[in-house]
Amino acid sequence: MTTDILIRGGTLVGENGRQRADLLCHDGLIAAVGADLAAPAGASVIDAGGCFVLPGGIDPHTHLQLPMMGTVVADDFFTGTAAAAAGGTTTILDFVGPDKGQSPLDALAAWRQKAAKAGIDYGFHMTVSWWGERFAAEMPSLVRDHGVASFKFFLAYKGGLMLPDEDILAGFLRCRDLGALPQVHAENGELIAHLQHKLLAEGIRGPKGHPLSRPSQCEGEATLRAITMAEILEMPLYVVHVSTAEAAEAIARAQARGVKVIGETLPGFLAIDASVYDDPDFDIAAGHVMSPPYRPAGHPEALWKAVEAGALSITGTDHCCFTRAQKRLGAGDFTKIPNGCGGIEDRMNILWALGVEGGHLSAERFVALTSANAAKIFNLWPRKGNLVVGADADIAILDPAKSKTITAAAQHQNTDFSVWEGRRLKGSVVHTVAGGRHLWADGDLRAEAGGGRYLPRKPFGPAYGG
Ligand SMILES: [Zn+2]
Repeated sequence: MTTDILIRGGTLVGENGRQRADLLCHDGLIAAVGADLAAPAGASVIDAGGCFVLPGGIDPHTHLQLPMMGTVVADDFFTGTAAAAAGGTTTILDFVGPDKGQSPLDALAAWRQKAAKAGIDYGFHMTVSWWGERFAAEMPSLVRDHGVASFKFFLAYKGGLMLPDEDILAGFLRCRDLGALPQVHAENGELIAHLQHKLLAEGIRGPKGHPLSRPSQCEGEATLRAITMAEILEMPLYVVHVSTAEAAEAIARAQARGVKVIGETLPGFLAIDASVYDDPDFDIAAGHVMSPPYRPAGHPEALWKAVEAGALSITGTDHCCFTRAQKRLGAGDFTKIPNGCGGIEDRMNILWALGVEGGHLSAERFVALTSANAAKIFNLWPRKGNLVVGADADIAILDPAKSKTITAAAQHQNTDFSVWEGRRLKGSVVHTVAGGRHLWADGDLRAEAGGGRYLPRKPFGPAYGG
């Protein structure tokens, strides 16, 4: 049982329009939408005057409590989801990462246990971290019994997560049989491994070597390769964290010829460029090391165009944050810097400031990019991503007049670094309601461990035309 919440006086925004209305939350669901709703006895009332009332954000790309590169990411399922709530995100889809040879069902059980303390609702994708008979054999149960309906394949990280095309092809076919959605991290891992060795041999050992070892063409090639497989196999494909003009163009062209390819990008790729790796301060340059890397000037502008045109239709964060001390594991060898940046807390605020205030997006398109489209593709619609009676009471209330400056010191993410340090934003999420619980109240974070629920998802969603 949760307390009833009446959100009064705001402008409700959905992907297809907006209306001035009140909204009542009862028992974790949206119970009423309309003008001048009366507050039930005992209800708490949130004054949303002058604010936009938005579907809570869905972040379809997070890594919490993930062991990686000799350490574990700094945010666990509680701190990460609490930070998410502080920024208006009410649902995450995280990646289960089996060890090499580990049963994916066993890995899922371990992730379910870790995620039990999540403060907001969560679902899972499965990383195809190895391929073999047992993996293939467990996929039907993952999809049908456990609601894990999307699988990520790596074309990069040679010697680690990278799979040869033969295995990716077999994995895609298995997904197709099950109605599951294949996702790809698309960079050419062979070329990257070659360049890493070459750069280290030349004595380039600092963070600057990271972007030099991952040219944009490597992403363009791998994206087109994955699309070609999906196109010939006649199945959909989801490309995570698109960071380059080449990849965005490959996706747009494929969509134009009827291929069901979905492109995800991250706020950071729309606003930050590779000049960050020139910073003489190791902590700052290394703090930006993620894969793919931030790209040279010109790519962010091309990505905005692809977002505006609809070729890139989903935003995630790839939240995978490390502290400065953790990043120093790679001092003296850029290939050992833990790969990843934070962002789960900032996606909605950043995208509003850069996208809506910045003139790229309407508020309705913002809703599509931050929640509605992900809800549809990942089969959480209509329960998530829209403010209708009967949907989950997952709501972000954004005050367009309130400014905010992001600093690592003030953030809720469990790290001492932010790629957005010092950035001043116009517009800010001032209240978050998740599952009918008021988790963020104008600076007061009330997320509770275990408040979130597991979201099993069905296969054969809209990505398959179903
Ligand atoms: Zn990722």
